[in-house]
This record gives sequence, C-alpha cells and structure tokens, in this order.
Amino acid sequence: MTVRTRVAPSPTGEPHVGTAYVALFNWVFARQYGGQFILRIEDTDRERSDSASEAMIIEALRWAGIDWDEGPDREGPCGPYRQSERGAVYRRHVRDLIDGGNAFYCFCGPDRLDALRRAQRERGETSRYDGLCAGLDPEVSASRVEAGEPHVVRMRVPPDGVCRFEDRLRGTIEIPWSQVDMQVLLKSDGFPTYHLAVVVDDHLMGITHVLRGDDWINSMPKHALLYRHFGWDMPEHAHLPLLRNPDRSKLSKRKNPTSLHYFRDVGYLPEALLNYLGLMGWSMPDEREVFGIDEMVAEFDLDRVSTGGPVFDLEKLNWLNGQYIRNLTPDQFADRVGQWTLNRDRLAQLVPLIQSRTERFIDIAPQVDYLLGERRELSADLFDHRTLTAEDCKRVLHHALAMMATVRPWDSGALMGECRALAGAMDIRLRDFLFPLFVAVSGRAAALPLFDSMAFLGPDLTRTRLRSALAALGGISKKATKRLDKDFAALARGSRDRANN
Ligand code: GLU
Repeated sequence: MTVRTRVAPSPTGEPHVGTAYVALFNWVFARQYGGQFILRIEDTDRERSDSASEAMIIEALRWAGIDWDEGPDREGPCGPYRQSERGAVYRRHVRDLIDGGNAFYCFCGPDRLDALRRAQRERGETSRYDGLCAGLDPEVSASRVEAGEPHVVRMRVPPDGVCRFEDRLRGTIEIPWSQVDMQVLLKSDGFPTYHLAVVVDDHLMGITHVLRGDDWINSMPKHALLYRHFGWDMPEHAHLPLLRNPDRSKLSKRKNPTSLHYFRDVGYLPEALLNYLGLMGWSMPDEREVFGIDEMVAEFDLDRVSTGGPVFDLEKLNWLNGQYIRNLTPDQFADRVGQWTLNRDRLAQLVPLIQSRTERFIDIAPQVDYLLGERRELSADLFDHRTLTAEDCKRVLHHALAMMATVRPWDSGALMGECRALAGAMDIRLRDFLFPLFVAVSGRAAALPLFDSMAFLGPDLTRTRLRSALAALGGISKKATKRLDKDFAALARGSRDRANN
C-alpha cells in the first residue's frame, strides 16, 4: 500500500498557521513512508471561498517549505483537486445514496428550519432536523424535484444506538446516533457540503491516512456512515490536537496572529516555524527541541503525538527563531534579510508612500521605522484628544478590531471603505474615528497615510497593534467586552439592513 495523505484547506481569508501545522504532519508522515502528499482545495462554500485566498495558501505553504505531489497547480491522476470543479462527481454519488435509500430530498425552507431551531433551543434541546421530509414517498419527492421545487439532500441517520469508530491517537470512540444530525449533503445551490465532499474525495483520491484537526472528531459518525453506505473502506484517521491560545481557547485571529503572512512579514525563518510546529503535540524521542524537517521525517511516530492541545507560544517561537538566526553564516544572514523585506518587491510597496516625502535617502528610515520595525511602546496620554475620551478610543479600537476580522481584500481601498462605514454607523466623524487607529498603528502624532500603513503591515500585525493599544488604555473588562461585542453586532446588523434596503 502506498501511503497517501492530504491537507485540505478552505480558501477563506488569510492562510492560517494551523494549515501549515496540519500540512507539516501529513507531509512528514507521507515522506516517512515514501508516499504521496496531496493539496486539495475545499472551496464548496461559495460565499466564503475565493481564488485570491487559494493563491495565498499555495504561496504561503511554499514559503514555509512544504511541497505536494498533486494539487490544483500540479495535476495528477485523481484531479481536479479543487472541489468546486468536482460537482458532477458529488452529484453522482448523492444519486447513489438516494437510490439506495440512504439519503432523501428535503424541501423544508429557512423559515421552517429557523422556527424548528428556535423551538428546540427553547426546550433546551440540541438543534437538529426533525426528519419531516425523511418520510416522504420517494416518487413524490422526485417529481417535486423535477418540477423545480427548491431542495437539499440530507443523509439518513440511525434513530438509536451508537456509532463506534477508531481514532489512531485516541483508540475507540463512541458517539450516540441521537447526537448526530441528518446532515445536508447537497445544498440548494447544488454544491456539496464538506461532509459529503471530504468522504468522496478522500476515497477517490486514494487517501490512506487522514491527519486533521480534532475539531472534526464529532463529525466522524457522519463520515463513517457515508463510508458504510458507499461500501468503502475507511482510511485511518488521526485527529491532531488543535493549536491553542495561551488561555487554551482555540487559536484564533481575534486573540493572536494566525496568518502565515504575519510570520513571514515580521521575520520568522520558515524552517524555524516548521520546527516549532513540529513541537506542537509531538516531540523527538530524545526531547531535543531544535531539529530540521528531515530529522522529523526520520524520527516521526504517530504514537508520540499527544492529544492535549498545544499552546502556541510566541515567546518560545521567538527563542527558536533566534537559534536559527544565530546559526546562519554572515552571508546567509545578509541573504535572508534581503529575502525578508529589504528587497525590491517589498520596497516597491513603500515607494509611492515615501518618494514624495524624501529629499535625501537618509530621510527614509525615520519614515518607515514603524513599518519595518516594532512601533514604540504606547502610553495612555498619546490618546489624549480634543473630543474623544479614553472610553471612546477604546470603543473605536474594539469595533475596528471586530470589523477587521472580515475585511477582504486587505488593501487600503477596502480598509478606507470599511472605516468610513463603521465611523458612520458609530456616528463619529471619520477624522476622529481614525485618530486612535493612527496612534495604535504608528505610535506617532505624524506618520505615513494610515490606510497604506495598515495595508503594508497586513491584518495580523495591524490587529496586534490595535490590541496592544487597548491594553495601553487600560484594557477592557470581560463585562465591557461583552457589551461592546453586542453594540458592534447591532451596528453591523443595522448597516447590513440599510445596505439591503
Ligand atoms: N476543509 C477542512 C478544513 O479546512 C478540512 C478538514 C479535513 O481535513 O477533513 O478544516
């Protein structure tokens, strides 16, 4: 048997460090067994997926030093490797499930499902589909579909008993069927859901081992059932522990930098980052902490993966990166600094900002110090303002952070549009709204244009600075955060409604 593994990111935003982590383990495992490693793009969520994000994932994984044998940019025998191009394959398989009585058409619209969910929530039950359409006569359903009635396809689930499955790291796991929803397999737009696509593709692509985040464990009953309905052998599954914030919550961009671009842009070496990711949930038999990817391939053992969520600790990563930096020869060091930011491409992004402000080249460094280096520490008095109180500044920073979690593309035009809309919704003059952001980003009273600065820094570094500005202003209590979250959600709802009317 040839070992075949895969990583299957969804292209929805910045390339996530968790993708590199899962890719690394799959890559190492495949290489160890002389097998193949595949990149599959899971872009069936048409609203959230975009091709720019796919391109960023490919570029970022390459930067990290991970390569693949088959993928959207490297056709192979099991392509296409982009799920949006495999519609006919999924529809064929859904038809088989329907013909076998293992899936059914469902015509329940959003209103009925919302009401159902609400009623279940009020009764304190977990929300799940109640099976109304599961009892329809298949011939009647088929003619309703033929007549063009909007519908989805759902899978049938056993009414009782437990689903038992194996996880390579945890042994046998049991989940009662009563906790498993009659999952939608094909959406009303004709696209498959993740659950259908992942099973069909892992099988058709000959995947032998699925190493993925442990947030998918609860989906295993659905997947196991689909394998059974199709009559296929299941690949081995190993659910890797998800990376955690220092407070042990799931690593998220709301609290920490997570974009691979951030790690590249602030000057981590990709080999140090991979080494660090290798230490997440795994360790060398002799516990040494500094090792290259080839050493990891030589020593890797799934039995040494621990299931406790590893904390992604930037201090530790900094230390490790320092080890790698100090090990470079002077020539390598100079080359790597050049590859980092002191290169033409990166400089080209700065030229439109600095050229007109430059009389002598010596004027450049002071203008860009906060873009190429850390900005200075902030003190609360930097936020003194004619009309805004410290509380107002905090509110602006909080709301801007919430808004920035979804800005795409991350460029100065989009940032300007979003800031303008948010300032309007908050009923604050744009100039005033931008003041705390300006201080947070640059640490100065005068600096290069704000939106261009944020675009250059990228989303993670910008947000990191906004978070540290909030801290400099004394931070926000848990209670106040909740209130502000609500306030922001209401404003966002208001703007959405206005846009829709
Ligand atoms: N598209 C899924 C994700 O991004 C892949 C999960 C899996 O590996 O099965 O998390």
